[in-house]
Amino acid sequence: MIIVKENLSIFGENIEEEILKQICTQYLTVKEFFEEKEELQIRIILCSNKEELKFFSGLDEIGESTTGRAIISENIIVMYTPKAIEENTPKKKENFRGILAHEITHLFYNKRGYPQKLQVINEGLASYIQWVVVNKKEFNEEPDLNNFNLLQEYSRNIYKEGLYLINYLIKKAEKSALFEFLEKIKYFKDQEILMEFNKLLDIKLKGGINQDD
Ligand SMILES: [Zn+2]
Repeated sequence: MIIVKENLSIFGENIEEEILKQICTQYLTVKEFFEEKEELQIRIILCSNKEELKFFSGLDEIGESTTGRAIISENIIVMYTPKAIEENTPKKKENFRGILAHEITHLFYNKRGYPQKLQVINEGLASYIQWVVVNKKEFNEEPDLNNFNLLQEYSRNIYKEGLYLINYLIKKAEKSALFEFLEKIKYFKDQEILMEFNKLLDIKLKGGINQDD
């Protein structure tokens, strides 16, 4: 069945009221985080098993921890239902809302036109919203900025590294500083992005320029 709720179209079998409520809530959570005024037309395909997830996501391989994906060019999210998360992955059905918010974040990030090549920021922001905003987890670990590579390619590590980075930035600086940075560097070359990133780390911190130096 297909259920349309304003700008959200949801496709799946026997979609429960509770799931619908979660989808609307997480959509609003992410929209508010981005302080976005415009609505985003999103289609969500809820899959009940691995075959459906493989078919609709277009992923070649559905790993043990794969729960879904965002197809950013189409504003489509393909993901497991809460029940299917529990049946097909080591995760719990309670993880549904965080995972959903994570995928919605990718769509808002793309809507803003922020660079996809900053995978560590993209995944970090999605992971930050998933864990800190939605699941209210506290992270006190600081990112290792000495070995940090902003332009690193996709790897399993970038979720954690990105999460620590975004958490650190938002604690130290205003969230708006991060968005200003992403807005400003949209069309920058790599070297210019790195210079601007250093400015973000140094100057925009709430306490001003590094006090210890
Ligand atoms: Zn992601």
